[in-house]
Amino acid sequence: MVRVRFAPSPTGYLHIGNARTALFNYLFARKNSGKFILRIENTDTERSKKEYEESILEDLKWLGLSWEEGPDVGGPFGPYRQTERLQLYRDYANKLVSEGKAYRCWCTKEEIEKRRSSGDQQNSGYDNYCRNLSVSQISSFQAEGRNPVIRFRVPDKKVVVNDIIRGTVIFEAGTLNDFVIMKSNEIPTFHFAVVIDDLSMQITHVIRGEDHLSNTPKHILIFEALGCNPPAFAHMSMTLGTDRTRLSKRHGATSVRQYRENGYLAEAMFNYLALLGWSSKDNQEIFSKQQLIEEFSLQACNKSNAIFDPAKLLWLNALYIRKKSSSEIFEISLPFLEKAGYSKSELEQHKKIIEKVIDVEKEKLKTLQDIPERTGYFISEDISWNSEIEKKVKIPEFEKTLSEISDLLKTIEPFEKSVIEATIRRFCEERNLKCIEVFNPLRFVLTGQTKGAGLFEMIELIGKQRCIKRIENFLKLKTG
Ligand code: GLU
Repeated sequence: MVRVRFAPSPTGYLHIGNARTALFNYLFARKNSGKFILRIENTDTERSKKEYEESILEDLKWLGLSWEEGPDVGGPFGPYRQTERLQLYRDYANKLVSEGKAYRCWCTKEEIEKRRSSGDQQNSGYDNYCRNLSVSQISSFQAEGRNPVIRFRVPDKKVVVNDIIRGTVIFEAGTLNDFVIMKSNEIPTFHFAVVIDDLSMQITHVIRGEDHLSNTPKHILIFEALGCNPPAFAHMSMTLGTDRTRLSKRHGATSVRQYRENGYLAEAMFNYLALLGWSSKDNQEIFSKQQLIEEFSLQACNKSNAIFDPAKLLWLNALYIRKKSSSEIFEISLPFLEKAGYSKSELEQHKKIIEKVIDVEKEKLKTLQDIPERTGYFISEDISWNSEIEKKVKIPEFEKTLSEISDLLKTIEPFEKSVIEATIRRFCEERNLKCIEVFNPLRFVLTGQTKGAGLFEMIELIGKQRCIKRIENFLKLKTG
């Protein structure tokens, strides 16, 4: 049975690159009818925060991922937070020490550094000083009250990583120093905790970022020292910005949360992340979740780094918005409308109109954040006019023209797009005005904007009374 895990460190919001790692693990688990496990790697107690853990879980769920085992749902191999598993790591470390595969090291950082800088050693790190201490040396360290770390005794051998994505990678373990597996405060290092967890949680495949490839020989050596077969490894290429540097804040939004708050749909994000470093045989780009599960394979993952292109994500987002019904879009855009200042009851009251507007505007929507701006003037009773924009909008004889249009609107029955259009066009003809001279200014007066849905459709949706009132208000404002 396939068992894979996503093991985030809760030291920040869910990064796009990590979300992609989670997604690939998820797809692989679902494709193989296996289990997807969520494990929180919080042994860096200074940088780990509960609030980040919560936000990571929330964002993974928002993205549409679900897991069979994890800190929130429990499971047979729990607990799923490393700080709750400390005894297990200590037991394993002691076992390795008793078998001579690890040993206590009493050196201080300063001592190691001093020996390193004074000696002619090739090694840049630890010199394995405490490997073979005598009993009396140990007792004198103890007598000094030193707290030891536990180091892994690295054997001098080749370590072969048969990576599913990268092929065979060979490391000379001899070049590694004996590394720390338990710190002096009895907290395991990342390398040790990850192996003990993967072992005890019966993980079959470790799918993670390529930045961990150089750690893998250490992990394999620990598995071997414990007499166990390591899981299969698949190191995914990294996610870079369009300038081919590691994706960072410089590139704009880099967390799933930011995209979610910026009005992106989970489906679009899910689809886009799957395309980062993986492609189907025929280069198809639009996939439902189910299709991705069916098509996904680790073998089809690229070795070369993936480029995160926000423009493509935006394009996909617009496409997914268009696929939704207006009432679905209305529901998911409520938080954005509320944030823009509209009350729940106001929104409920204008639901039908907003849905109609969404229908009309759908082709132009790129994110859910566009919705308040594009629908606001249909919801509010009154609107305001930005005097800067107004300077660009010239209305010929505006007072007279607007009053006449207002009178005209009063007579239109039924107040429907086609009748409104015919009436206003006729008016322009009779008054010898160019349509363009009237349409754009009228749009501005009625909506406070210079762009938007089709003018006559919009007039119909705003409704007769509100249109008349807006013209009146505008005239009052201009003529005092
Ligand atoms: N906690 C590690 C990270 O966030 C993941 C380790 C792993 O997947 O083995 O990079």
